Amino acid sequence: MNQNNQADFFLPPALVEEVLTDLLKLASTGLSSLEAIPVRQRTDDERLMLGKARNEVKAYRTALDYWRAGIYPSCLDGIWSIESLSERGQVIHHIWREFDTQARVYRWRCDCKCAERSPFHVHQAVMTAIEVALDRADSLAYDATDVDDEPFGPDAPAQLGRRLAAARSAYLQAA
Ligand SMILES: [Zn+2]
Repeated sequence: MNQNNQADFFLPPALVEEVLTDLLKLASTGLSSLEAIPVRQRTDDERLMLGKARNEVKAYRTALDYWRAGIYPSCLDGIWSIESLSERGQVIHHIWREFDTQARVYRWRCDCKCAERSPFHVHQAVMTAIEVALDRADSLAYDATDVDDEPFGPDAPAQLGRRLAAARSAYLQAA
């Protein structure tokens, strides 16, 4: 069930862990500065940002737990699969890119139940860290053989839907 190990992840795992640590630090600093505002003086915007910052810190902290447990996502045709840490060996979630027409940006979407409660949780945190790690790998000039080309690939929503269905049925057949 564990499809990745230290040897075959497309990025050096230590680099992703370093990025996750940095992102957690950044999110924690942001959260502390918001928490420093006295409760009664917080504006509605600040209250919203506080909720987002708390989610981010929690997401990156959980993502680090995943990473340190050796749970890495793997990609098949633009759909990423990742095991659940709490239900290891039993549950696999899928993550994909989707265009947010309101915000006009691509976001990481997933098929887990956390997605309804909090749009940014462990799955988005892991994928954000991988994206940052890819950029950092480029700028640190990691050995080219350590990093696969274009792991995200082109992504049209309809194609993604079909790919997700295919990934799910492949998973169900394998289970
Ligand atoms: Zn999720």
